[in-house]
Amino acid sequence: MTRVVLLGGGYVTLHAHAALARGLRREIRSGAVQLVVLTADPAHSYHGFTGEVLAGLLPFARTRTPVAGACPRARVEHGVVVEVDRKRRTVTWRPAGSSDTRTMTWDHLVVGTGGREPAALVPGLAEHGWTLRSPGDIERLAARVGHLAGRSLEGDARPPLVLVAGGGLAGVELAAAVADRGRGRLRVELVHAGDRLVPELAVSQPRLARRAAAELERLGVRVRLGVRLVEVTAGSAWLSDGTLLPTADVIATTGQRPVRLPGLGDELRDLRGRLLTGSDLSVGEGVWAAGDAARVLHPVTGEPVAANALWAIKGGHHVGTNVARVVRGRPAQAFRYRGLGRAASFGLGHSVAELYGVPLTGTTAWVLRLAFFLRFMPDRRQALRTLADTVRAVRGTRVPAPPVDRTRPRTEREARVA
Ligand SMILES: Cc1cc2nc3c(=O)[nH]c(=O)nc-3n(C[C@H](O)[C@H](O)[C@H](O)COP(=O)(O)OP(=O)(O)OC[C@H]3O[C@@H](n4cnc5c(N)ncnc54)[C@H](O)[C@@H]3O)c2cc1C
Repeated sequence: MTRVVLLGGGYVTLHAHAALARGLRREIRSGAVQLVVLTADPAHSYHGFTGEVLAGLLPFARTRTPVAGACPRARVEHGVVVEVDRKRRTVTWRPAGSSDTRTMTWDHLVVGTGGREPAALVPGLAEHGWTLRSPGDIERLAARVGHLAGRSLEGDARPPLVLVAGGGLAGVELAAAVADRGRGRLRVELVHAGDRLVPELAVSQPRLARRAAAELERLGVRVRLGVRLVEVTAGSAWLSDGTLLPTADVIATTGQRPVRLPGLGDELRDLRGRLLTGSDLSVGEGVWAAGDAARVLHPVTGEPVAANALWAIKGGHHVGTNVARVVRGRPAQAFRYRGLGRAASFGLGHSVAELYGVPLTGTTAWVLRLAFFLRFMPDRRQALRTLADTVRAVRGTRVPAPPVDRTRPRTEREARVA
């Protein structure tokens, strides 16, 4: 029996699983091949709609799909991978809720464990801020933002300040979403270390970068360029220019680092910690990687591709196809996908998008982005519900702010506003 173990429950795993299920249908049915998914989070998070969730346009549940349902041909294990042994071809994991570990062998290992925000680089960020990478973060932050935006302000109290650090596509989208939800009841500021917003677009699509800045201005977001977030405390944030801002919340989107699994060490990684992949997306004998965990080179430019969902989806699909080929005794093929574009949303009907190098703005960009995101959702029914919710949002219905949950201990963040 050949065992293919897929690590993580993100885009790479779901799309590798789909390609494996198609390419090895007969072998899986006969039991000659077994697929196993090991994931720390039992549900797949569809991050593309994070802005919509924070803005109250979509319920959080729309972004979550159980991994077991999305990977029907695999045995799905819920737990944290703690070690990979490449010589013995084993992986060790700690099942959720257990202190014991278990070990299983693999013939092929697909690493799709993604990245994490390096919260430790900014003192206090892990304790008092948000990085949106851990399971439950987005749901709790959406509840927080809804709660803050729904509070009535007494007297001449100033609206609470939400600070977003990082002016890339993710940062501008989140700042816009919080401002959209707050609508005057929240102040939103964005700090960005560089001298131009959305560096991903500033050089190749300066018009789109300017439009993104204009959208933030429309939503009342104050932007501070050339300034870093240097420390977060309970109720305030220090900036590199010496400014101390009293904050209700701090959200960091300052870049992410690949998850490091013991056993997949430095010799396999570049300086940013990404697993080095060959042109066929293999890392070494029987080990494959894609998505945010990997450094995948663009087939034309030779530059590393961006850490975003599109490349994780296409990379995952390619890894799954190659593993199926190798299991069937055929050679692996080089990754040839050239890309499609990128997009960011600033509320209903307001987006910027680059599609095959063509810049698009406004409603056209918004509709295209929505269509693209719905197309790649892992569950058709979720996609239909998301479309129905979006239509409701266009007609003026927002997701009510969830009541603050009194059944679990308050987090420090909740305690501050309660
Ligand atoms: C808030 C936010 C908004 C974003 N918005 C967009 C967007 O609009 N458009 C876009 O293209 N991209 C967006 N991205 C980026 C996109 O989500 C990532 O590029 C994509 O998720 C990478 O896919 P992946 O499969 O490599 O990793 P992920 O999707 O992150 O999946 C990693 C998986 O590995 C699991 N895992 C991690 N460590 C372990 C371990 N030790 N053991 C077991 N399991 C483990 C995790 O639980 C998770 O299931 C956004 C990201 C965030 C955080």
